[in-house]
Amino acid sequence: MAEPGARQRRALARIAAALGETGFALPGSLVLRTTACGKAGCHCQGDPPVLHGPYLTWTRTAAGKTVTRKISQDQQARYQAWFDNARKLRQLVTDLETLSLRAFEEADGTGTSKR
Ligand SMILES: [Zn+2]
Repeated sequence: MAEPGARQRRALARIAAALGETGFALPGSLVLRTTACGKAGCHCQGDPPVLHGPYLTWTRTAAGKTVTRKISQDQQARYQAWFDNARKLRQLVTDLETLSLRAFEEADGTGTSKR
């Protein structure tokens, strides 16, 4: 394995520092959703239907299954930074992988060995 260059090592240090500064990170996404309850005679069953909500909904995947729960405006205000952190974390991981791929390509790339 060749040594990545100074520029790549600086980029790695920047990513590592940003990773180290990342706080709590909540997975998933927040979406506003409207629902129909299914009760006969409810306005959500009308023509045209007037749906319930919109509710702020937190959707994430756990053990291969989609987990959904309602979240209040107050909870959103308190936890928005944690959702933002998870997004930053994913971007940093993508950046690290891109940087590493580039370092690999420069050292051993294009399928032809330098040795
Ligand atoms: Zn309803």
